[in-house]
Amino acid sequence: MKKYEDEYRHKGLRRKLIASLQKKGISDQRLLEAMNRIPRHFFMDLAFDQIAYEDRAFPIGEGQTISQPYTVAYQTQLLDVKPFDKVLEIGTGSAYQSVVLAELGARVYTIERQKKLFDSNKHFNFLKKYPGIKFFYGDGFEGLPTFAPFDKVLITAAAPLIPPKLVEQLKTGGVMVLPVDENHGQRMMRITKLEDGSLKEERFDAFSFVPMLEGKTNGNENHT
Ligand code: SAH
Repeated sequence: MKKYEDEYRHKGLRRKLIASLQKKGISDQRLLEAMNRIPRHFFMDLAFDQIAYEDRAFPIGEGQTISQPYTVAYQTQLLDVKPFDKVLEIGTGSAYQSVVLAELGARVYTIERQKKLFDSNKHFNFLKKYPGIKFFYGDGFEGLPTFAPFDKVLITAAAPLIPPKLVEQLKTGGVMVLPVDENHGQRMMRITKLEDGSLKEERFDAFSFVPMLEGKTNGNENHT
């Protein structure tokens, strides 16, 4: 069993990390405060305790990663989460991003396609503090039609295209933030669903995510 405490040392490192995010251009104060409340080291193996507050991605098993804090902050800032927003997240992974959304007051529906990652979150006691997060094992390309429509959709893996079913499950006026594959790397995009059903597309910086894959799996796939 992992044993975690949030010590002064962690809190100090976390404040430094948040200050560095601010320097890199993250300006949403509510978001910065939310991230400052969340012990990121809880979401990683104890082996990473010393380096959990570096601004970088870390492996979480099954060939997947917990996203870099800057990337989490960047996507969340673009999503502009309001309290009580109903948010669909694709790619639960470590659940760190889900908790950031919950700290901002969102009602979170998060889907993971890897059974082992989904199962490990069931035993992750810290998540009991967040009854507003609902966890699903499934294929993010399908979304959650039963719970649609959503105010916001956040994809935390690189999508080959804008998933049509997720556009359908977005409210009018709703916003989707996702990294989309391009010829060389991935581009962060923000999609807004307009009154007439058409999409406004905005393009932002380049990023590097693990791929969004079709179907769900029990096995081990490695992507480097
Ligand atoms: N939000 C995560 C980032 C995890 S990395 C965090 O904060 O830690 C991306 C995750 O997306 C991986 O766990 C991967 O298994 C998952 N994923 C990839 N394709 C998916 C799909 N089609 N549906 C659901 N999850 C998917």
